[in-house]
Amino acid sequence: MHDAIVIGGGLSGLVCARRLAAGGARVRVLEARDRVGGRLFNGDLGGAIIDLGGQWLTAGQTRLANLADELGIATFEHTRVGQPVIDETAGIVVKAAAAFAQHRAIKRIEALMATIPAGEPALAQNAALLDRVTLGGYLDENVKTQIARERIRLHADLVFAANPAEISLLSYLATMRATGGFRPGGADLPGGGREHRFEGGAQQLAIMLADNVDIAFGEPVVAIEQGELVTVRTDRAAHQAKRVVLAIPPGLVKRIAVELPEPMQRYVDGVRMGSVVKAFAAYPRAFWRDRGHSGEVYRPRGAVRAVVEMMGEPPALLSFIVGPHAVRWHERTTEDRRGEVLATLEGYFGAEAASPLAYVEHDWGEDPWSAGCVASTLIHVLARGGRWREPHGRLHIAGTESAVHWPGYMDGAIEAGERAASEVLAALG
Ligand code: FAD
Repeated sequence: MHDAIVIGGGLSGLVCARRLAAGGARVRVLEARDRVGGRLFNGDLGGAIIDLGGQWLTAGQTRLANLADELGIATFEHTRVGQPVIDETAGIVVKAAAAFAQHRAIKRIEALMATIPAGEPALAQNAALLDRVTLGGYLDENVKTQIARERIRLHADLVFAANPAEISLLSYLATMRATGGFRPGGADLPGGGREHRFEGGAQQLAIMLADNVDIAFGEPVVAIEQGELVTVRTDRAAHQAKRVVLAIPPGLVKRIAVELPEPMQRYVDGVRMGSVVKAFAAYPRAFWRDRGHSGEVYRPRGAVRAVVEMMGEPPALLSFIVGPHAVRWHERTTEDRRGEVLATLEGYFGAEAASPLAYVEHDWGEDPWSAGCVASTLIHVLARGGRWREPHGRLHIAGTESAVHWPGYMDGAIEAGERAASEVLAALG
């Protein structure tokens, strides 16, 4: 018998387990996969370590920066040299008008964001009103200039990887508020720059946290039953503990037989995990720089919505396929998918883009133990009380989606893991 069982060996579950163990609790982690890290997953691209999942440390994410420091994991600056390609087919006059309209629209969205109390969207002034419309509906109604609308949509597509026509405006505003909005704040990171990556890949954080933690791999939890103790059933065994922490993406909770109170069930029923595919192509040299390009591309349409440069050995371009295109990505053949990504890169950077040294992709929507990347909710969920944070009996909630600050990000995963561990330690007495 354990004091606590943590379900999920991602960053949040592992931070929680470490804290619990440090507080003297006997703790076991049950992990469905045969590895730790969840949405942090290192891959190999022509001999270089790449981040197939979570990747960047952004200014303002102090919990993440401190954890990396504590574990002795070095970070390095993600530099940009040259100019990005912003693919908009509009004349200079139209672009100037769009920039003005975009500025005004962003100011209006920021004013709405400011009405949302941190981590408490249901308490926002006009919460019901904001939760009755989708983000897509709001943009169609309120942003009249097409390019300005497309730019804000593109930003949302990349942050939420979801269809704006499906996600609630309140959910969008609450997440934007909790993650710094259009211009995440905070001082530049130590060592310069606003974005850093981790030496050895971000999964290294989870691998190091897992050291000395009791983890049972290949144990997907299928049921949680509360009584004098809590019984956690996997497809192999039943485990008992005084407390249990659920540290999995909320989009996967439906697969577990567990009784939840109405606010939690409402959230679980109304949450959607955004679909994203990351596709990396490595090249012998960074030929895009020849023409002064930074390797970045932003496009409002098409399967590939953004491209960023990954400088390293070998240099590479990372393409993001998000939202509806990502949902259908797995239906296409490997050749067809690779063909579309490389043809897009060739269109911007020339023929050399068609012949990479190596090509690797990871489809998170198709990954059964993630089912996507970032969570958002449908309309009529948050304002009607849908919540994902408070404990229910012996059940505690961790996982990045339950964080007050930086939900959806590694920093939020750490905050939530620490908070759940404090709750459990207090309950154990
Ligand atoms: P997870 O990592 O999802 O961990 C949950 C664990 O639970 C998994 O190991 C899973 O296998 C396990 N599990 C699921 N169901 C069960 C079950 N029934 N029984 C037992 N175990 C189960 N964040 C950033 O900060 N910066 C970025 O640049 C960034 N980029 C991203 C890019 C992509 C493509 C993706 C997918 C994510 C990105 N993120 C980024 C988000 C970041 O990776 C996550 O916020 C963070 O890793 C979530 O940690 P977690 O522990 O909450 O959840």
